[in-house]
Amino acid sequence: MKKLLLLLAVLLLAALPALAEVEITLTAAPCRLDYDFTVPGQNFVYLTFKNNYQQGSMTLYSEDYHYAGSIDLVSSYKGGLTNVTLQNVHLQTIGKGRIELPADESYPIPTGNSDVRVQNLKLIETPEGFIYSFNAPGADFMLLDCHSRQEDFTLPVYPIDDEGNFMGKVTMPLTYARTQMTISVCNFKGHVKKDAICYKGYEAPAKPEIQPGRLSGLVVCIDPGHQEQTKFVSEPRGPGWTQKSSTTPGMALGTHTLRRESIVVLEIAMKLRDALMAEGATVVMTREIQDTFVSNIERADIAANAGAHILLRLHCDNSSQQNRTGINIYIPRDSEYAKAVADQPTYEHMGQLLLDQMKTAVGYDLIEHTGVVRANNNYIGSNWAQMPCFLIEMGFMSNKREDLLLAHPTYQQWLAEGMVNGIYDVAVFRGILQ
Ligand SMILES: [Zn+2]
Repeated sequence: MKKLLLLLAVLLLAALPALAEVEITLTAAPCRLDYDFTVPGQNFVYLTFKNNYQQGSMTLYSEDYHYAGSIDLVSSYKGGLTNVTLQNVHLQTIGKGRIELPADESYPIPTGNSDVRVQNLKLIETPEGFIYSFNAPGADFMLLDCHSRQEDFTLPVYPIDDEGNFMGKVTMPLTYARTQMTISVCNFKGHVKKDAICYKGYEAPAKPEIQPGRLSGLVVCIDPGHQEQTKFVSEPRGPGWTQKSSTTPGMALGTHTLRRESIVVLEIAMKLRDALMAEGATVVMTREIQDTFVSNIERADIAANAGAHILLRLHCDNSSQQNRTGINIYIPRDSEYAKAVADQPTYEHMGQLLLDQMKTAVGYDLIEHTGVVRANNNYIGSNWAQMPCFLIEMGFMSNKREDLLLAHPTYQQWLAEGMVNGIYDVAVFRGILQ
């Protein structure tokens, strides 16, 4: 039996079409690597790189299938062999390359001094990484150990004056916004060590002007799910219901990117806000920052107080089955507020209008099993919504492919555009817009 299975597996593998090998042109510079390649028919590819000092992966996007760019390898100053692997959107390896990175000669040879003391270590967050400052009299260099969930490297730094003051900027290109960075200052032998922690900055895009368009007159409330702060607030599960439920701090975490759901949905919410305002809609948001706390009923209240016609609640999904993918939309079922909005078939139809536009926008087949509309009583904020309310699970962060896509600005933009088209369809269906 085992032999038969093995034979079947071999036959199956032989039947699969061989993947074309992508020719990757790599050009190396000190602490930098330039890449150039073409992958016909693929808008997204995943690039992984690795050398003795640094490793990482990034999702790349190209409109015309030609990819060219640079990887900043700040800590690879000693040079050495760097390997590059390319995968397509189905995570099959489609190309490999390797190149010798030259050492950066501008770094002086450290002498080491184990007697120094490190004082006044301060870190300031920036969207790129952090700014450090400290004082270490007598040191001709120090080492910065930079660590986050996505990156880990050591960087030599040099004093800016004769008093042993150190100050400079470090970029951590693969570390995402609102991620904790731990920085240790040590000498060559690791004898002195001082640690500090800071968060990588997040810069919310400035609010644009409302442009006249097909959504003029429409008020949309965007509710980016979850948040940074944790509180246990007990709230009735729906209007008139005695059963209460606590807000839970649980949220999805990207299995590959290690990104938090609360940050991914905030990024997409900002793109959705700008896309709606560009077409005439008035937008209110339940939160615009990460470091806050808004309860579920408060989220529904913000939408009601703003006179919102539609409430979109943005989330990302999580499953123990790592191959689960797709967009799912949840609508409230038995709450009296939901029943006042529409009967269930009508509510479901509106959800389907939204889902179809989103699936079209990201390239999912409309009949493929990559999304459904479901009614339930599980979500307090939805049960309390007094307008059409859709809780959208925009993809599975437990699936490597969707986790990588959800982190990418272009895919986020596609999701936002799909939601704008869906909101328009729902508003026309409701008779709010012509
Ligand atoms: Zn969620």
